[in-house]
Amino acid sequence: MIDPFGRAINYLRVSVTDRCDFRCVYCMPEHMTFLPKADVLSLEELDRLCGAFIRKGVRKLRLTGGEPLVRRDVMKLFRSLGRRLDSGELDELTLTTNGSQLGRYAGELADCGVRRVNVSVDTLDPDRFRQITRWGDLGKVLAAIGEAQKAGLKIKINVVALRGVNEHELPTLVQWAHDRGMDMTLIETMPMGDVDADRTEQYLPLSLVKAELAKHFTMDSSPERTGGPARYVRVRETGGRLGFITPLTHNFCESCNRVRLTCTGMLYMCLGQEDSADLRAVLRSSGDDAVLDAAIDEAIARKPKGHDFIIDRRHNRPAVARQMSLTGG
Ligand code: SAM
Ligand code: SF4
Repeated sequence: MIDPFGRAINYLRVSVTDRCDFRCVYCMPEHMTFLPKADVLSLEELDRLCGAFIRKGVRKLRLTGGEPLVRRDVMKLFRSLGRRLDSGELDELTLTTNGSQLGRYAGELADCGVRRVNVSVDTLDPDRFRQITRWGDLGKVLAAIGEAQKAGLKIKINVVALRGVNEHELPTLVQWAHDRGMDMTLIETMPMGDVDADRTEQYLPLSLVKAELAKHFTMDSSPERTGGPARYVRVRETGGRLGFITPLTHNFCESCNRVRLTCTGMLYMCLGQEDSADLRAVLRSSGDDAVLDAAIDEAIARKPKGHDFIIDRRHNRPAVARQMSLTGG
C-alpha cells in the first residue's frame, strides 16, 4: 500500500479493546465509560480485518488497547496471527501492555511467535505508580517483566514523562531498564481525549528531559528509525538504547508507515487527525474480501500528510477528542 505522499504503509496497530484494568491519569478519567460490547469487533472480525491488511502488504502488527491482555480469549487472536508469522506473511507480531496480566501470558505469547513486548512503567516507586495508574500494582508488573524475560521476550519500557511527577526519576529509570537489558522510550504527553487532569500541568517537553539526562549520561545519536515518531540515542555508560517520542515538538510525519485500527473497526490514517474509515460497516455488510480490500485502498488514499497537535496555555483542550485507549498508543 502506497499513500498519496509516496509512503509505504506496512505497519498496523490494532486496539483490541477500549477496556483497561488501570486508569492512568493522562489516559482516562477515573470513571471511564466504555463502549457497548456490540460495538466492539469480535475476535473473529479482528482476525479477518488483520488478514485483509496482511494481504494488502502489512508486515508488522502491534496489538494494543486499552489493555490488550484483559480482553477475554485474546490469545486466540495471537494464535491465529502467529500462524501468519509461520507462513511468512507477517514479519513481526508485538504488543503494548501495562504488564498487569503479562506474567500469566508470557509463555503463551512467546509460543505464538511474539518476540518483543512494550511494557509501560512510568515510575519505580510503588506509591507513585498507584498515583499515576490509580489502580495499578507495581510489584506485580515488575514480577511480570521478569517472567516475560525468562520466557525469552525482549522488553522495551515505555515511560510517559510527567512534569513534577516522575521528572526527577527519569535517570534512575534509564539505568534500571538498561541494567536489565531493556531499551526504554520516553513519551511526551499527547493532548488526546478528556481526562480529569490539567494537561499543561502534566506536559513536560522532552527537550528539557534530554538536557537533564545529558548531565547523567553521554548520549550518542543513533541513525536508527522505525518509521515511527521515535528518535533514538545510545547511552554510552549503559550501552542501552533510549528513544524519544516527541509528537508535539518534532514533525515525524514524513516517514510515517502506519495506520491504526480501533476496536470498533474505525481505521485512523493519522493519530492526530479526525478522519477515519468505518471498516466495521464494510465487514458486517459483506463477507466478500474484495469489498473489504477496496475499502482499505480507499482509506489509504486519504492518509493525510501530517498531524496538528498543539498543547499550550491558550489551547488547553484535547486536539483530538478520542482517547488514546481507543486508537491505541
Ligand atoms: N494499556 C497498554 C499500556 O499502557 O501500555 C497499551 C495501551 S496505552 C494507550 C499505550 C501507550 O500510550 C502507553 O505507553 C501509555 O503510557 C501511552 N499513553 C496513553 N495516553 C497517553 C497520552 N495522552 N499521551 C502520551 N502517551 C499516552
Ligand atoms: Fe490503561 Fe494503558 Fe491507558 Fe494506562 S495507558 S489507562 S494502562 S490503556
